[in-house]
Amino acid sequence: MRKPAVAGLFYPSDPEVLKSFILGSVSDERLPAKGVLVPHAGYEYSGRVAVRTLSSVEPKFETVVIIGVDHANSGRTSTDLEDWETPLGIIKIDTEFARELKLRKGTPGMEHSIEVQVPIVQVLFPDVRFVPVCMPHGDFEKAKEIGEKIFRVAEKLGRNILVVASSDLTHHGPGYGYVKYSGSPDEILRGIRKEDDELLQRVLAFDVDGIIQFGRHGTACGYGCIAAMVHAVRSLAAAHSKVIEYTTSYEVSRDISHVVSYAGVVFW
Ligand SMILES: [Zn+2]
Repeated sequence: MRKPAVAGLFYPSDPEVLKSFILGSVSDERLPAKGVLVPHAGYEYSGRVAVRTLSSVEPKFETVVIIGVDHANSGRTSTDLEDWETPLGIIKIDTEFARELKLRKGTPGMEHSIEVQVPIVQVLFPDVRFVPVCMPHGDFEKAKEIGEKIFRVAEKLGRNILVVASSDLTHHGPGYGYVKYSGSPDEILRGIRKEDDELLQRVLAFDVDGIIQFGRHGTACGYGCIAAMVHAVRSLAAAHSKVIEYTTSYEVSRDISHVVSYAGVVFW
């Protein structure tokens, strides 16, 4: 059993507080989605975007594949056969699916990018099974291979799946080693937004090669996750896409020296 690593840090550890945060952010929209892009910062920054995005998905899938990024870049792409626990209880792994992926077993124990999405899934889709896929952030060139595997296993097992890519967008500020925009907060945020729009245009157009190319100079953490998810959902015949919500850490922190941006996107 994988125990929670970041409960109380990235999201509330109290089950009631956690549940009411999630239920307080749900959207009214329901799309027959095959994939989503969601952010993975602490819930105070990006939890609302993640919940609104995931809650705009129709509950018509049996297994959720959550592709997260290994921020520590500690090894190869991995999955888990052991169930995961959060403050809301246990989520069962779709072991048949996870096994068929033929990836390394055992995701990084302290990584948060997959874990922060799990309580949201538990509240919104209590009956689904789960497959974690953790990709080193430097490994985005292999994204198509991972996306193709996910698609093929879903086909082989006849499984209805939702593929979730967990990634934040631009990281701007000296602490991230990336300072490109200056001036007023508005000017800086406009620069970041323009850069995000360039990536999101590729994402919305199912342009997997464009995403990978962007990843060679951009500062998002999960180009691999995004490209793998987009490849998988394109193969699953998704043809529509839409940004549900966009925000930045500045909305909460009011600290313009370090800004991270977040988008929620649905594909159906
Ligand atoms: Zn990240």
